[in-house]
Amino acid sequence: MIRQQDLGDGVAALLYACDGALNTLDASLNRELGERIDALLADDGVKGIVIGSDKPDFIAGGDLKELQAAPDPASVVAIVAPFLAALRKIEKGGKPVVAALPGTALGGGLELALACHQRIAADNASARFGFPEATLGLMPGAGGTQRLPRLIGIAAAAPMLLDGTRLSLADAVTRKLIDQVVAPADLLETAKQWALANPGATQPWDRKGFAAPGFAVQSAAGRQFFAGAWARASRGAGASNLAARAILECLQQGMERSLEAGIVIETRQFARLAAGNDAKNKIRTLFNGVNRARSMTMRPSGPPPSTVGHLAVIGGGVMGRGIAHVAALAGLQVTLLDLSDEAARKSRDEIARNATREHEKGRLRMTPQALLSRIEPTADYARIAQADFVLEAVFERADVKQAVLERAAAVVGRDVPIASNTSTMPITGLAGYATMPERVIGLHFFSPVDRMPLVEVIRARQTSDATLARALDLMKQLGKTPVVVNDGLGFFTSRIVTTYSSETLNLIGEGVPPQLIDNAAVNAGFAIGGAALAELTTMPLLADILKSMRGDGQRIANAGNRAEPTLAALLALGRIGKAAGKGLYDYGPEGRAVWPGLALAFPPAGDPLDEETVRQRLFAVQSLEAVRALDDGILGQALDGDVAAVLGWGYPVHLGGVFGYIDRVGVPAFIAQCESLAARFGARFDPPRRLRDMAAAGQTFYPDEATR
Ligand code: NAD
Repeated sequence: MIRQQDLGDGVAALLYACDGALNTLDASLNRELGERIDALLADDGVKGIVIGSDKPDFIAGGDLKELQAAPDPASVVAIVAPFLAALRKIEKGGKPVVAALPGTALGGGLELALACHQRIAADNASARFGFPEATLGLMPGAGGTQRLPRLIGIAAAAPMLLDGTRLSLADAVTRKLIDQVVAPADLLETAKQWALANPGATQPWDRKGFAAPGFAVQSAAGRQFFAGAWARASRGAGASNLAARAILECLQQGMERSLEAGIVIETRQFARLAAGNDAKNKIRTLFNGVNRARSMTMRPSGPPPSTVGHLAVIGGGVMGRGIAHVAALAGLQVTLLDLSDEAARKSRDEIARNATREHEKGRLRMTPQALLSRIEPTADYARIAQADFVLEAVFERADVKQAVLERAAAVVGRDVPIASNTSTMPITGLAGYATMPERVIGLHFFSPVDRMPLVEVIRARQTSDATLARALDLMKQLGKTPVVVNDGLGFFTSRIVTTYSSETLNLIGEGVPPQLIDNAAVNAGFAIGGAALAELTTMPLLADILKSMRGDGQRIANAGNRAEPTLAALLALGRIGKAAGKGLYDYGPEGRAVWPGLALAFPPAGDPLDEETVRQRLFAVQSLEAVRALDDGILGQALDGDVAAVLGWGYPVHLGGVFGYIDRVGVPAFIAQCESLAARFGARFDPPRRLRDMAAAGQTFYPDEATR
């Protein structure tokens, strides 16, 4: 609701006061704003209007649930139309209207502020101003793409609109987004005085002779800007970003026209985007799914909240270093234990180099010295005796891990959780090597640890509620997004990624050119294709992974797949990968070229495959294995799998994830595709029973949304 308050001297305040911690805009609130603005404009006793908030922040944006449920563009327009009309009345109603911003204003909140004649902000270091819509496949839909560039110029507006960059208060003032900053206690009074002092306030774009700052669309600078921006939005994975293209369209077309005409263009683009699948998929996975994971809904409620003061990290390799870095950054004391004092010291030195680089780029929020002062390198287990959480990241070898777990369990307190960062080994087996196996859990981080938000939390058969709770409390301390899964070979992420790598290698073995495989993945939204990824992983490591993921050898995922013999043949021919300069490609001073021996080693089997068949195969193996993992009880629900896919291995977010993909294709159509693939390429494409049952019952994985 909006609370109306009389500020005296003929100035009225409209203060947003939603239930809950944040103000979010929805259809009923939009209508209420329109009615209140109409009434205040019609009231001769009212000289000015202040729009503010009853909460520490202004407005966090629109209600995404409402948008997600909108089945078609017309329903989207019905939500925003009253808001759009109210904003234009604010601008042209003949009375001064001031935005009084106590804190953050995002999305629709910032659009409302931009429609006011003056923006006054309270001095608030945590306030942020921006348009995060594009990160969820959306775009501003209430004039943001038109008023922002008219206020600060196209060049400054574009990154805010396209990348969702959020400005601090200081930056917002520099960019002239905010006109004044005052002490929080003076906010409403200053806004009132401005209204009284500026009875004839108008918007710059409603004045005669208005020209937006910066370049015009049709100037040389404008043409150059748009040529570059369109090229970026149409290349590789960017091509699947519909929001970026819609925003560019609004900027380019709208800025050549009047504000009103620009807003008509924006409304059309916004309604189409918001009603479309891409935005609904992104909102579901990146907003609903990630928020659910980060709010720790999987944490057992019994155990009391805990914090880790002293973390022991065993193994100072790529992962151990990353984990130590992130933990020290979060304020934990870290003991970094490796095979020798020297190895541990070297590992800490490497963290120091990385921290210095990050600091120089302005990306570290403390000095490298402060960070390193929290990390103690050692080879002595006695140094971890007081730790309140242990995490091992030693070599991926069962005997090494078992020995480490035994030693750690012998020195730390009996109730101290011990986590393994293994990427494939079932935790239930490892746990037996620690006294009190109920304290053992899997915490599968992703590389690079400081940039990858996902941690797959693996609950082994013995893992206690207390251990799970403490592991999730640690994830909160480290600012990670945990997805909790049950134990099994490869858990969820490694299990699915393996099918993707393995299908890629199988295609190579059938004589499909690596560029075709990579194009199929990149054109569908993957940042990097499977063949390029295999080159980076290296063929020997990939061979190890496929071997360890083979399980009992009877897994349906492998039926008819010849990835392992293909890898063996590549290795026998000395084709190791990119680092060795010899893989699927040759790497020379002129760049890379497909290794001519590839076609001889793997002559095409039958008719050449087209890109669409290759794409279907790469996507089907992942989704099918995900459904099998759901059947096996590895996942609690499909949404967890989609969050893990998008955050864990860069699955195209506009598809939602491995389960969202099946809904997108349609369950019956997906089954038909898989049947045809199974007939041509092997039983690994056989659709599981669950899918057939779903098709028979007309079910989908995400039934509660409007999808078209
Ligand atoms: P790495 O080879 O870079 O580092 C392993 C480190 O462990 C080395 O510093 C080594 O000296 C140390 N070590 C080995 N045995 C030890 C012992 N007995 N006691 C103490 N230290 C010992 O390996 P990594 O890439 O950091 O991987 C570590 C673990 O994380 C593995 O289980 C791996 O599967 C998993 N993992 C790796 C990645 C990745 O992308 N690299 C991602 C997720 C999980």
